[in-house]
Amino acid sequence: MAAGIVHLVGAGPGDPGLMSARALELIARADAILYDRLIPQDALAGARADCDLRYVGKQSGDAAMSQEQINALLVELAQEGREVVRLKGGDPFVFGRGGEEAEALAHAGLAFEVVPGVTAGIAAPAYAGIPVTHRDSASAVAFVTGHEDPAKPGSALDWPALAAFPGTLVFYMGVKRLPENAAALIEAGRSPDQPAAAIERGTMPGQRTVTATLGTLAEAVDREVVKAPALIVVGEVARRRE
Ligand code: SAH
Repeated sequence: MAAGIVHLVGAGPGDPGLMSARALELIARADAILYDRLIPQDALAGARADCDLRYVGKQSGDAAMSQEQINALLVELAQEGREVVRLKGGDPFVFGRGGEEAEALAHAGLAFEVVPGVTAGIAAPAYAGIPVTHRDSASAVAFVTGHEDPAKPGSALDWPALAAFPGTLVFYMGVKRLPENAAALIEAGRSPDQPAAAIERGTMPGQRTVTATLGTLAEAVDREVVKAPALIVVGEVARRRE
């Protein structure tokens, strides 16, 4: 039997209108779709009636499947000759663990295709009127995980380098550790007066933006009860436009 193929597909940040034509085409054709929690509502509406739909997402503390199990399932389905869509929120290669899935497939000698999606780190600020780069005030943008414990010895993040970064910082998965991360940036030399924003449910109904400064955002987010999914933007571009 000929081996199948896996398409690692980005579904965009939430607004169904931001799904690509290629994503919709592959969803309509797939024999099997493995999908996450953060995909647009009705993203699977165009799937075949006999498509094998499997939820493999994670809720905090409760993973439907481990990453190793997902990798193994992708390999197994492709080896059975099926055309598989692995559907993820945003872009599959931006904090989406798509790189690990691509490696597992390559290791098994299986074909795969990557379909980029609009990443939340660009789309949510855009819908909030925040350009992540700006000719006058931000010549670079960094996508950063907010999930790392800054106090952990050997933390993967270089806080002095992030504090000195000459541009916008966009933190994914950054609500829970916002107080520690903001303190680490300030401690490493970033100005507490720099504008900062939290964008909740970007591009989805009920999107909400909380604007403050790096020094005060954690308190504002706490007061306004900002919940995941949310992004944190730090930089001049986040200054509120009246
Ligand atoms: N691959 C995804 C990111 C997955 S990590 C992408 O490219 O967008 C999950 C984190 O992404 C969340 O914790 C949150 O920080 C961010 N995120 C995803 N969707 C979001 C949305 N609609 N609004 C705000 N943040 C979002």
